[in-house]
Amino acid sequence: MALRTCLYRQERPVEDATDIEIVCLAGGNHHLGIIGSDLTYMDSVCGQCPIPDVLTEESTACLYLIPIRIFGEVEIETLYQCRVLYDLNPQRADKSPFLHLPRACPWWFPHPIDFLPQGTEWHTHRARGLYLGEIEKPAPPWSWGSASHPEPPSRLDRLLSWIAKRVL
Ligand code: SF4
Repeated sequence: MALRTCLYRQERPVEDATDIEIVCLAGGNHHLGIIGSDLTYMDSVCGQCPIPDVLTEESTACLYLIPIRIFGEVEIETLYQCRVLYDLNPQRADKSPFLHLPRACPWWFPHPIDFLPQGTEWHTHRARGLYLGEIEKPAPPWSWGSASHPEPPSRLDRLLSWIAKRVL
């Protein structure tokens, strides 16, 4: 059976070699095989993947949909993030694409079926890295993190310092 087309299956030259590697962008450029070699692993992984069916015209996927695959030792997890919202709570990834369909979200806009929107690779790596804790999210400027400026002296400290200056 022919493999379904997938926008996230990409080819790239292997460093210092003439080989072309096939990777899964949704899986963080997970290695699927080398062109011209045995591609049984890729056929199996991609053959069971739900993402190609999510990105068809009929499925009405959203422009802002970011699918993610987590390749574990035994299982492969498939998650869906929103490009606009994942930064707010990267751990809150959906196991189903249904929340990203037109009736579920007022911001829905159609996803192209023959190319990935600009910036998809960057957002995929970031959303996946934040979800897995591989990327640290910088604290927002208003957060109560470690103080980068010294604490101002308290009123008591200021009073004691004023008294000391007059006594000495
Ligand atoms: S695993 Fe799924 S998302 Fe990744 S390249 Fe294969 S079909 Fe596409």
